[in-house]
Amino acid sequence: MTSETPDPPYSRAMVVVAHPDDAEWGCSGTVAGWCRSGWEVVHVICTDGSKGSSDPDETSEQLVETRRSEQLEAARLLGLKHVEFLDHPDSHLTPSLELRKDIARAIRKHKPDILVCANPNRSLSESTYIGHPDHQAAAEAALSAVFPTARDRLTYPDLLEEGLLPHKVREVWVMLGPERANHFVELSEEDLETAAKALHAHVSQVPPDAGERVREWRSRNGKEKGLKYAEAFKVFSLR
Ligand SMILES: [Zn+2]
Repeated sequence: MTSETPDPPYSRAMVVVAHPDDAEWGCSGTVAGWCRSGWEVVHVICTDGSKGSSDPDETSEQLVETRRSEQLEAARLLGLKHVEFLDHPDSHLTPSLELRKDIARAIRKHKPDILVCANPNRSLSESTYIGHPDHQAAAEAALSAVFPTARDRLTYPDLLEEGLLPHKVREVWVMLGPERANHFVELSEEDLETAAKALHAHVSQVPPDAGERVREWRSRNGKEKGLKYAEAFKVFSLR
C-alpha cells in the first residue's frame, strides 16, 4: 500500500512586471490578501522606470531614484517580502535571453509557488489603450523563465554555481480581463483599501482618482461572478 504525500499549501508568490506601479494597477488586491495571510510575496520590476515623465526638468537619473523609492513604499504598505529591481532600460524592454535569465535567477532565489504576470500579447480589446510593449516583453520573458529556464538544471550552469537550484513554479496567473479569465479573487474592503494606498504610493505616476479607478475596475471584474470586488486571472496549473 502506498500513500501520496499531499502538496504543501501555497505560501510564496512572485509578481513579474515591466515598471514600478504595474503590479499595483494590476493585482495589488490579491497581493494584499496574500501578504495579510502571511505569504511571502516578491515583486520583480524588469525596467528602471527611467522614461515615465513628461516634465522637461526631470532627468532619467532622478526618475529612477524616485520610482524606486515609490515602489519600496508600495511594498511596505502591501507587506511584500522583497522587491527585485532588474534595471533594464525603460521603454526598450524585449523578451531577450538576458531578461529571461534574470527572471529565472529571481525565481530560483525566491522559489514562488505562484508567478503572476501580464498578458504577453497585445490584446487591443480597449478602444482607449493600445498597450505598452514593455508589458508584453516582461510577460513573455516571465513565462519563458518559468518554463523551461528556471526548471532546467543544464540551461545555465552559472546559476547552479551561484547556488541557485532549479525550481518548478506550480501555477502561473496571467492578469487578464474578466471575459478571458478562469479565476476570480474576491477582495475584501480592507484589501481593496490597501491596494489603493499602494497604488497611490506611486506619486509621480498615478492620477488623483487612481484609487477610485481601482475600485471601479475590480467592481466590473466582480460583476461577472456576482462578487462585489474581484481581480481576474487566467490560471495555468503546471503540476
Ligand atoms: Zn507599465
